[in-house]
Amino acid sequence: MWDPSETTLYSMMMFLFMETILEMYLTRRQISVYKQCKTVPRELQHVMNSDTFEKARVYGLDKAHYGMFKMIVCDIVILQLELYFGFMAMVWARSVEIAENIGLNPKSEIQVGCLFSLILNIIGIFKEMPFKIYGTFVLEEKHGFNKQTAGFFVKDQIKAFVVAQALTIPVAAAFIYIVQIGGQYFFIWLWAFVAVVSLVLITIYPVYIAPIFDKFRPLEDGELKKSIHDLASSVKFPLGQLFVVEGSKRSAHSNAYFTGLFGVKRIVLFDTLLVNKGLPADDPSLSESDKGKGCKNEEVLAVLAHELGHWKLGHVAKNIVIMQLQMFLIFLAFSKLFTYGPLYEAVGLPAGEKPILIGFMVIVMYVLAPYNTMISLAMTIMSRRFEYQADGFAQELGYADELGNALIKLQLDNLGFPVYDWMYSAWNHSHPTVLQRLERLKSLNKEGHKSKTQ
Ligand SMILES: [Zn+2]
Repeated sequence: MWDPSETTLYSMMMFLFMETILEMYLTRRQISVYKQCKTVPRELQHVMNSDTFEKARVYGLDKAHYGMFKMIVCDIVILQLELYFGFMAMVWARSVEIAENIGLNPKSEIQVGCLFSLILNIIGIFKEMPFKIYGTFVLEEKHGFNKQTAGFFVKDQIKAFVVAQALTIPVAAAFIYIVQIGGQYFFIWLWAFVAVVSLVLITIYPVYIAPIFDKFRPLEDGELKKSIHDLASSVKFPLGQLFVVEGSKRSAHSNAYFTGLFGVKRIVLFDTLLVNKGLPADDPSLSESDKGKGCKNEEVLAVLAHELGHWKLGHVAKNIVIMQLQMFLIFLAFSKLFTYGPLYEAVGLPAGEKPILIGFMVIVMYVLAPYNTMISLAMTIMSRRFEYQADGFAQELGYADELGNALIKLQLDNLGFPVYDWMYSAWNHSHPTVLQRLERLKSLNKEGHKSKTQ
């Protein structure tokens, strides 16, 4: 006899399996690039020596092999077993029992739901931890990127867990409550609630949450600070404070970003982006290997000109609008599907039992998986366009050469491998590769010269 819950389960398992196989195939393609490409591309020969190139190649290869291993263990073995044996339903049943034992009301879906989300998160930590430890203390360590001590790592993980629970449990409770009382159009209320929460989080995160994890110090007065303010005011960017974050406690990878939705914004520079971490060359905290690394002031400005491009061209606003629209569509789909019994039976619940949280997770993570995959590919493509546009903005401000130099420097400092398989890159990269960006900057510069002389 045809069983809709079995069909649902097997189609979900099948899709997730096929998606993982596709990702493994793409990684395989990139692995053969790492294996075959042993000489520095012509465009980079004057800046990248064969020694650095070889280091980047081995680093890339190690990461790709590790990625393959992780996909097999997590996405093929664990995920498929969890689905087949009804892992979520087991956790739900345990949550009901525990709720009873610790004096909560096992009939209250909100109370059981909070417990369920806590237990699921704890199990999630145990699943992820071996990979995190290996990734940080073996893989990154081997290639000289890990700067975390064991003590820092443990504290960091505990803080992250506590902050995550403080945010997810109340949201989960409110979520269930809204579905229970929201009536036929509960998805609108749900959307409004999540939209407000996410906007509040985006606003308070840099001020109250990020400092729990990392140390921020104001950028010292001086030439760099003055030029950044000049650059910001030249494009009418409402710059408030300028911070340097000790990203180097975590890892040696470098970056810069700005935060703040409304009103004044802050710019955050990773200390690893700056020459000598933005400190005087004789600062006692600088190690020999840190000295001389980082970008010159003009290059830091070029990186910021790119970031300001994202703001000026409305990329941030566009991303937020898309995110909200996305959320609305997901809640709408959820409201249409969540009463369908076989979805719950598919993940192992007894007939008639339909916990709201599980329904939401099954629909978002599994039923909508094909849709999510398409959207994420579209977003990756859009993000690459935004990157080119922001580079174009920096070029118009006259920073093309410095931006090119900064991109090369960051690539070298981060041991990024410059050559990619096109299919792997199209699927995975939110940024065009450095070679593509240099190429584009060069042609923009040529066009710029042409239009100036005309
Ligand atoms: Zn960018």
